[in-house]
Amino acid sequence: MSTTPQKFEFQAEIKQLLDIVIHSLYTEKEIFVRELVSNASDALEKLRHLQLTEKEIFDDKLELEINITTDDKAKTVTIQDFGLGMTSAELVENLGTIAHSGSKAFLKALSESDQKGANLIGQFGVGFYSAFMVAKRVQVFTHSWRTGEPGLLWTSDGSGSYQIEDCDGQRRGCKIVVELKDDCADYAQEWRVKELLERYSAFVGFPINLNGKRINTVQALWLRNKNEIKEEEYTEFYKFQAHAHDEPRLRLHFNADAPLQINALLFVPKENTEKLGFARTEPSVAMYCRKVLIEAHPKDLLPEWLRFLKGVVDSEDLPLHISRETMQDKALLEKLNKVIAKRFLKFLEEEAKARPEAYDEFFREFGIFIKEGAALDFTHRESLTKLLRFESSLTEKGKLTSLADYVSRMKDGQKEIYYITGPSRASIESGPYLEGFKARNLEVLFCYEAVDEYVMGNARDFDGKKFAAADHADTKLDDLPKPPEGETLTADQTKALAKWLKEALGDRVAEVKSSERLVDSPAVALNADKFMSPHMRRMMKAMNKDSADTPLRVNLEINPRHAVIRRLAATRDSAPEKATLVAEQILDNALISAGLLEDPSKMIQRLYKLLENV
Ligand code: ADP
Ligand code: MG
Repeated sequence: MSTTPQKFEFQAEIKQLLDIVIHSLYTEKEIFVRELVSNASDALEKLRHLQLTEKEIFDDKLELEINITTDDKAKTVTIQDFGLGMTSAELVENLGTIAHSGSKAFLKALSESDQKGANLIGQFGVGFYSAFMVAKRVQVFTHSWRTGEPGLLWTSDGSGSYQIEDCDGQRRGCKIVVELKDDCADYAQEWRVKELLERYSAFVGFPINLNGKRINTVQALWLRNKNEIKEEEYTEFYKFQAHAHDEPRLRLHFNADAPLQINALLFVPKENTEKLGFARTEPSVAMYCRKVLIEAHPKDLLPEWLRFLKGVVDSEDLPLHISRETMQDKALLEKLNKVIAKRFLKFLEEEAKARPEAYDEFFREFGIFIKEGAALDFTHRESLTKLLRFESSLTEKGKLTSLADYVSRMKDGQKEIYYITGPSRASIESGPYLEGFKARNLEVLFCYEAVDEYVMGNARDFDGKKFAAADHADTKLDDLPKPPEGETLTADQTKALAKWLKEALGDRVAEVKSSERLVDSPAVALNADKFMSPHMRRMMKAMNKDSADTPLRVNLEINPRHAVIRRLAATRDSAPEKATLVAEQILDNALISAGLLEDPSKMIQRLYKLLENV
């Protein structure tokens, strides 16, 4: 009963498209598997809808599944679905003209871009036609879901025309036989196709069998209802999707419909591998559109500082043929990026409230990313600053405080949030900078990490209170209650001594003055450099950076209540030579405390000189 084949010309645009697809040198040929499987999945989805509305459906007992077979002798790969199939008119309409979106967008972008087609195909996926990248001939065997329609065979070598003929014995749906070009014959190898299915189609909602074996066993969990998902399922999904061996530390599963349609499942891993010394983490929240992978490592989907996240973002607003080249799509990605980042920050804030200890654990491991964001991402700076945690002069060792808690403990009239940088709690506590704050009951945040200083400088303030470095000359403290008479130099005596010290020490100090911040130490060296703190200078030195060689700018502040200073005021007149040695020594001691003394040899000689007189 078969009729003679009918010959048709492809529409002009399709010819143009096929010409590019077939003749452009092109590296991502493999995506043809993704495209054909996603068409099969679409066809099954459409059939499922028809089953709800139509009484009569051809071959209605068939499973809704996709069967793929490879034949390496015949060099073919076959993709069969039991979806809605096509009538003759539909074959002409769907496969012969450019009515559908993907290919249209491709051609449009091609005409607007100076890129050659090769690069663009990867970003778009030209749908059905991508089969011609690897095929010398494509056959589509089909039977429509409508009873009373004939079985059909559509055939083309992609060179301008195709033919349609009747073909008995067809099941419902489409069976697409791709006859591979010789140089593409590896797509007829089972392992090769398996790898591609696992990469691109692992979460397709219908069963996919390859040569009779089920491929996609893990569900697209992100599209399911949260309440119905077990903890183990999440963990299994995480391990599968992120190729991880640990258990996730935190998880956010959320859906949104406005302003964008989003289904997202995000995980924070147990460990921060960058901290372990591995290379910078690649962004690895994958981008899906209706369960089909678009990009496994999209660069712009999330802000940089969220690169530690794993998981999936699925948005129907992202068509399969998304292109990062056109303005419109760029805007869409930016919007997605903002919405997801905001949602994740809100999630962290809720976690910090509900489970503070687990949050602190998270912060110890991943805080560096929050700091990076707080310093660099102006859009989310405020929310990120809220999430920062530090030890402080009021916390126990190892315990963290938030800035909000710091602010709640601020003294009346305190306007700034004080912080001090140093390699450890012990070194900060034994240094000269803390005592003035302690004596005034002012809390100081302890910053141990190299980036902290940069973060505080960039984040600038919290809740309207500026961050102020405790060891900076510009950070002013109020007067302490006056000590009893006689135990301190008078204001005039102190002034005179400061003047003399400046003369004696010359260029080694920028300024000498009386200190309000000292209690137990005779003097302190304060950083007067706006751009480099002592801590930063030490680090630069450790890294052998040239900028560490810029001359020191320190102010010396003296404590008029301290015995050594009172004594110096007296010796200055009686034994000026010895007093000069003592002055030099006081400065060197202060520099040692600040970690700023660069060459101790002079100091050692001087010390011996002083000891001669003992
Ligand atoms: P898109 O999927 O973006 O619409 P394609 O080039 O992938 O573009 O497919 C073109 C059209 O061909 C589809 O819209 C669909 O109508 C039809 N089609 C492709 N594959 C199948 C299939 N397996 N079953 C039924 N129809 C199909
Ligand atoms: Mg398609």
